[in-house]
Amino acid sequence: MSKPILLSIPHMGDRELEFVQEAFDTNWISPVGPNIDAFEQEFCQAINAHYGAAVCSGTAALHLALRLVGVEAGDEVFCSTLTFIASASPITYLGAKPVFIDSDRSSWNMNPQLLQEALEHRAKIGKLPKAVVLVHLYGQSADIDPILAACNQYEIPLIEDAAEALGATYKDRSPGTFGKVGIFSFNGNKIITTSGGGMLVSSDSELIAKARFLATQARDPAPYYEHSQIGYNYRLSNVLAGIGRGQLLVLKERVAARRRNFKLYQQALQDLPGIEFMPEANYGKSTHWLTCITIDAKDFGVDREQMRLELAQQQIETRPVWKPLHLQPVFDEYECIGGSVAEDLFERGLCLPSSSNLTDEEIDCIIQAIKKLKYC
Ligand SMILES: *Cc1c(COP(=O)(O)O)cnc(C)c1O
Repeated sequence: MSKPILLSIPHMGDRELEFVQEAFDTNWISPVGPNIDAFEQEFCQAINAHYGAAVCSGTAALHLALRLVGVEAGDEVFCSTLTFIASASPITYLGAKPVFIDSDRSSWNMNPQLLQEALEHRAKIGKLPKAVVLVHLYGQSADIDPILAACNQYEIPLIEDAAEALGATYKDRSPGTFGKVGIFSFNGNKIITTSGGGMLVSSDSELIAKARFLATQARDPAPYYEHSQIGYNYRLSNVLAGIGRGQLLVLKERVAARRRNFKLYQQALQDLPGIEFMPEANYGKSTHWLTCITIDAKDFGVDREQMRLELAQQQIETRPVWKPLHLQPVFDEYECIGGSVAEDLFERGLCLPSSSNLTDEEIDCIIQAIKKLKYC
């Protein structure tokens, strides 16, 4: 193998350049323009969301979401611990404090029981969090119903971080459309990309209007520049929204390709002693944005880190499952409710190359390389 096989790379369709060309032809090279409006509408149609605001990243979308539900300095926000740091860093941008919640083994996502108990306890001592950030990990929806019920019981807004779960389902609906606000990412490694970008969705049109307002420096309606609030420069470029429009046209194919990757890996590797696949919960369909396995060193013979290094030698890029946020040095002052499940998944979990443009030869090469670790 001469060409390295990377974890998750962009995969363009046939139409992206048309929309980008249109932006050039009409000189809409700015963070306003027809591609942005169309991208927002087409995105909402694709996932059956009411209203959407396109922004420059998923992180920016989450920052806006937290601000829009009223998170302020000193507040606490509950957040999944097994996730990328961007699920929690915007909490600290606002001077608020994350409290992390452990995963459920059956979905790797936030444990609804733990959340329910934690909220009950917090209600008793009069210290409820200001919001809950629920992550849908690696293409799989969390178990939303009991989580939403717990949030509703205590009137706490649910923010869904669906950055990794575009195209997934939860009981036939799209994760990201259940909470007060949902956010998505179009970073280069996600299931579709605008090279960098994000989207905020909500059924509350006023909230989305406010998101657009804050994302464009919070300009008051006056002929001169007047500001009575602090905003951000977070809008998506009309050029990049053009890429997004093209990518939306192939979203279904991208989901199918990632699910196929998972199936090929699973068929070839599931019987190897010591290898297990991230379970697919029965309440919905995962996109398998990334195919993740856990390795039991006792049964498999090598551990997760040895496997990662051996594959890296053969130019195959893999990554450990997210290091839980409660173990991150930058977050070591914050509380975590539970944590042992996420720690175990980090210890033993590995993400395999999962791009939608992986070839059969590449997948076969990865499968053979893993088998060799066991039998040679
Ligand atoms: C990628 C990602 C984000 C951040 O999205 P960006 O567009 O990279 O800012 C947030 N949360 C999760 C779970 C992600 O995977």
